[in-house]
Formats: sequence, C-alpha cells, structure tokens
Amino acid sequence: MSTSLEIARASYRDLRLYSAEAAPCDIDLSDNTNLWGTPPAAARALHELADAGVTRYPAAYAAPLKEAIAAYVGVDASWIVTGCGSDDILDSAIRAFAEPGDRLAFCAPTFAMIPIFARLNGVEVLPVPMAAGWDIDAEALTRADARIIYVCSPNNPTGTIASRATLERVIASAPGLVILDEAYAEFAEESHLDLTAASERVLVARTMSKAFGLAGLRVGYAVGAPALVAEVEKSRGPYKVSIAAERAAVAALTHDRAWVADHVAVARASRARLGESLRTLGLAPLPSDANFILVPVPRAAHVAKRLRERGVAVRAFEALPSIGDALRITVGPAPTMDRALAALEAALACA
Ligand code: PMP
Repeated sequence: MSTSLEIARASYRDLRLYSAEAAPCDIDLSDNTNLWGTPPAAARALHELADAGVTRYPAAYAAPLKEAIAAYVGVDASWIVTGCGSDDILDSAIRAFAEPGDRLAFCAPTFAMIPIFARLNGVEVLPVPMAAGWDIDAEALTRADARIIYVCSPNNPTGTIASRATLERVIASAPGLVILDEAYAEFAEESHLDLTAASERVLVARTMSKAFGLAGLRVGYAVGAPALVAEVEKSRGPYKVSIAAERAAVAALTHDRAWVADHVAVARASRARLGESLRTLGLAPLPSDANFILVPVPRAAHVAKRLRERGVAVRAFEALPSIGDALRITVGPAPTMDRALAALEAALACA
C-alpha cells in the first residue's frame, strides 16, 4: 500500500510546516505586527460586514483594493498586484519569474520564508554575506547570475537598510527580476518604491500586516510595471483577497492614514527608547529602520525560553551569519516595553 510519503513530491519530503510559536503569551513581541490595535475605519468596515454580500465571490483580482493602494502609493492601479498577504506575492513572483532549477540570490540573513518559497517552487537559493555596515553586497548578488535577486529593506530580521546607491547597482546588473521587499517601509526614513518607474525588472512588495495593523486579514500587494505585475497576477490566481479583507483594507487606506502615521511615529519613538534601554543593559542592538530591533545575545534560544516563562514572547535566532545568536524584539506601547525589558533583564541574569 502506498503511503502519503511515497506519493508526495520528492522535493517536498524534507519540508516542514512553518512553526510560529502558537501558545498564547501575555506580551507577544515575536511577529512585528502593530501592537497598538486595529485602525478605526477598518474595524468599522468589519462590523458592517453582514451587509457585504459574502455569499458571492470577491472581485477576482481585487480591483477596488488596487485603486485604494494606487492612491496610497501614488501610481496608476495598473501598477498594482494584490495577494493573500505579501507572502502570497513573494511566492507567486518566484513562481512567475524562475523556472524550477533556476537560482534566487539574497544577502543573509533575511526573511526566513524566502528559502521556503524558493524551495516550494523548485528554485535553488544562493545566500551571500552582507556587506560592511549592514548594506547589501551588489557585486556578490549580481555575480551569482540568479534569475531572481531578493532584497529586503528594512531587512527582517536585522532591521537594517540597503543603501540607494547599492540597490541601483544591483538593478543595473541584475539578469532577471529584482524583488524589493518593503514590508516595513512605513517605519523607515526612505522608500525605494520609485525604482519601479526606472526599471521594469523591479517589483516592490508591501503589506498591510505591519503599520496598517491588519495581519489577521492577510492583505499584501506589490508595485511594478504593468507587464511585470501581470505575470505575478497570473501566477497568483483569482479570488485571493476575501471580501472582509478587501473592505477593511480599502477603509484603512482611505480613512485611517492619519491613524497609521501617528502610530508609526509612536513606534519609532518606542524603537529609539528600546535601543537605548538595550544598550543600558550592556547589549549592542543593530540599527533599525523597522518596528523591531535585533539584538545579539549569547544563547538566545535559552534566553527566549526564560523570557517566555515570564510571559514575554520574542523571536530567537541561532547562529545568524555575521551576527551569531540574537533576539528580535517587536516594538510596542511604552508600558508593554517596560514590562518586556524588566523580564529581559531578569532572563539575562539567570541565562
Ligand atoms: N516580508 C517580510 C520581510 C516580512 O517580515 C513578512 C512578515 N513577517 C512578510 C513579508 C509577510 O507578510 P504578510 O504575508 O503578512 O504580508
């Protein structure tokens, strides 16, 4: 009798499910979501959902949402593709632009889902080290002759940014698609979304899961030349954004921008304060342009466990290239951070 393992795709056999820590925790600083809550117009749209006609399918390619995103980022709607989270966008883009056996290059460490999406699509990954000062290494990325170059800026998990000059060098020499993942753009000084107008090889991926506080609804999008986003849309397929997600996202993009901007400002101040507090504890956090901070800590998994016992969840990383063990801590409201820092101090003392 054949088992499911025998009939499964050989290249999938060693793949494991993504395991986010599921157990609830008093203070969850592990996933870089917005800890200030749901934007008000989005919340109202969700309450009014009973009248939204959920017996019917949503718009196949989310046309109303594309219009709202286009107005937010300042391009025509033909430059937008949406998805079930930006995870969906990244996965679809890899499938659309690389054949099985092709390569995808990135500077490590970066977003942990990228090697997984590559592998799900039969694409090989080529991690290269970051350059000095946490910039990406243009020469190493382009030397690899990869069909896709992935750059995350601000980068998860480091929080650091790619410089404009280096990005431009990467785009000028890239043999194929350049994905610029700007999931944390709202928290940074600068966005490079305008690079999409300069090159039709550039796809900028964004999300409503972070600054917009809608992670549970799963809304992502990308900006790029119309011919480019059309390929991602083919690969993505229809009906990926539910009516609930679309209604709330359109409401947030239309009416909640001031709410988002205010909370981004508070998050940045909280980030500065967290950085200072970590330095006071004798640690050396990386500079961050995101809504989290990465701080190298020996035996990070052990420290994270001690923190969890004190009701605080953070993400622990082991042996990151050029960094070693580290904790990634999402920024949140001041009282939450005070409690988390007190717990961290105690956890470090008994690590
Ligand atoms: N890109 C980066 C860099 C991320 O950190 C995340 C979420 N952790 C995503 C993409 C995916 O976000 P979502 O699918 O929620 O839009």
